[in-house]
Amino acid sequence: MKLNFDVNPDYVFLHALNMAQHQEPFSGWAQFTNKIWEKSPEVFYFLAGSPEYVLYGRKGKFSVLSKQAEKILEKTKRSKEYKRLIQETKKYTIFVQKQWRRNEKKILSFVESITGIKLPKKTIDIYLTHPKLNNGMTLDDSTIVWSHSEDWKNYATVYLCHELMHIFTNHDPSEITHAVIELMTDNELRIHLNGKGIYFKESGKEVGHRSLRKLEKKILPRWKIYLKKKDKNIFKFLEEIKRKKAN
Ligand SMILES: [Zn+2]
Repeated sequence: MKLNFDVNPDYVFLHALNMAQHQEPFSGWAQFTNKIWEKSPEVFYFLAGSPEYVLYGRKGKFSVLSKQAEKILEKTKRSKEYKRLIQETKKYTIFVQKQWRRNEKKILSFVESITGIKLPKKTIDIYLTHPKLNNGMTLDDSTIVWSHSEDWKNYATVYLCHELMHIFTNHDPSEITHAVIELMTDNELRIHLNGKGIYFKESGKEVGHRSLRKLEKKILPRWKIYLKKKDKNIFKFLEEIKRKKAN
């Protein structure tokens, strides 16, 4: 299995522009995007992934709007803010890639032995976005989007492995699966890679989703027993936990 790291400038830009984005990649960004809004609120909402653009009723034609959006996007690419956004993302990509390559062997053998899964021979594309604007999810079986501040040592690789586990567990939406992924990657893998650490806390920060903590602590005793087992099978373990919860 291989990870392929890539930067798609359109994606990086639209991710930073998105209405759900409440952070600035750097100061002056909000002012810069405001200029796009001043040019055309309709195009701004359209590019920012917000349905409000339909309220402008431009003859109800997507084709007209998308052409105008394309034009504004092309112009935007020449701005220094756009160039800086992409430049900083590229720099971050090199950092993450180096970290992954350094840890790759250790991580993959960790995953195989702790899950009992034989990793598939395939390439997974990682599309990075600006490191100040957190991102992290799987889009399908071979695509992950990612960025995050490096809150502690090996942060990026631990969480790339977390996302990989969502793929290997077939995007199972169950909270139990998510909690086990966090026990395995956010905690066990982090401690394994860093050679030290404790569960649920690192460098003074809480680790993982707070909403899963109660469940994780409930599963923890069984997880510790599982870790000592010789022939591990993560799917059997998940089934067992789910069965216990149902009873
Ligand atoms: Zn997750």
